Amino acid sequence: MKTNIPYNTLSNSQITKFGSGGLDLVIGEGHAGCPKLYKAQYIDKTVPAPMAYPLSFGITMHEALYLLEKEDLTPEEALTKAWDPQLTQKDFAEALDDLRNVIERGGVLPNLHTISVEERLKKLLYVDEEYGEIYYQGILDWIGIGEEEDVLYFADYKTDRAPWSQADAQNWVQGKSYAWLLQDSEYLEQQLPGVERPVIVGLVELTKFYTLQVNYTLEEIEAWRAWAEATARKILREKDFAPKLNKGCNWCSIQNDCEAWLGLPEHGNTLLEKLNNTSLEERVDLIDEAKETKKKLDKLIKDTESEIYEKVAATGSQSIGKYEFNLESSLSTKVVDLPNLHDAMGDKFYELCGFTFTNLKKWAKDENATIDEYIAQIESNPRLKKNLKT
Ligand code: SF4
Repeated sequence: MKTNIPYNTLSNSQITKFGSGGLDLVIGEGHAGCPKLYKAQYIDKTVPAPMAYPLSFGITMHEALYLLEKEDLTPEEALTKAWDPQLTQKDFAEALDDLRNVIERGGVLPNLHTISVEERLKKLLYVDEEYGEIYYQGILDWIGIGEEEDVLYFADYKTDRAPWSQADAQNWVQGKSYAWLLQDSEYLEQQLPGVERPVIVGLVELTKFYTLQVNYTLEEIEAWRAWAEATARKILREKDFAPKLNKGCNWCSIQNDCEAWLGLPEHGNTLLEKLNNTSLEERVDLIDEAKETKKKLDKLIKDTESEIYEKVAATGSQSIGKYEFNLESSLSTKVVDLPNLHDAMGDKFYELCGFTFTNLKKWAKDENATIDEYIAQIESNPRLKKNLKT
């Protein structure tokens, strides 16, 4: 039976994508996911997973750390091998600094021995009365052991730009999922055979800062499991898959097919009305939503204008909606109307002219051009002009 959870197996990224209160499981993805995008990605499979920039940086770092550990490469060699060319030279420098920082601290995880890296674990989460067995799976960056015979360590690499506190590590939802996957598992039994009460220790390897060590109590792990079951039940029974605006919308590959994204101006107007007519206490709650909406509106405006510009630049004047668009010189009033400007300004014109020509001369010289050639060059970058159709 086809269900809302493919292969009846849930993962941290699926929960993040669907959205569930208080989650921030993957760097760069906001707390709120989007059921509509979840459906497109995991059920209809009409879009590949979008790659937000921070995620791409994080994946490259994961790969480089994996290579450092597995193939014993230098930071430069590991990074070169793992490099995603879509990232910038600044990213490369930052990533290299992070890797060197890890090595200076004594390696990825000093004093511990690696058992496996990128280990995929899968475990029965619960049996649903309608959909049957539902599993949970996760890929653990690193698993290893130390001196103690009854302790198994797992680690997750984090490229966060701000350090974590011990409380952050204790509340780390992803960490609890890994501890639960290892707890009472065949994998644990294989690695620590015959150990009666094995201890599972999580390590948050913050590549820019330090490593935090964390233990979860049985109650904390069970609370995570109950929450994951409740989330799985909700996803399995979801019917609407309504869109939910969130930080990832800017990278969303189905935004042009999304009523919430396309309806942003209306959403903006509603927010504006609310902000105008509510008390300070209520407005405080609206600030984040208003900022996020403003950012999305700005992007939408910029993208739309670029699209129109490209059309007009490629095929000449265009009639779109109730407007006519064409390109006009962006310097026409400043340079072409000099005689008129002279008449209007009298002697002051020469002060302005001296300044303008000095600069023009300098800029033209920088470009190895005469002033006339330079002006022609600037005027060949015309700006978009919009007129209501007559
Ligand atoms: S653009 Fe629409 S579908 Fe995409 S994440 Fe945002 S709300 Fe969801």
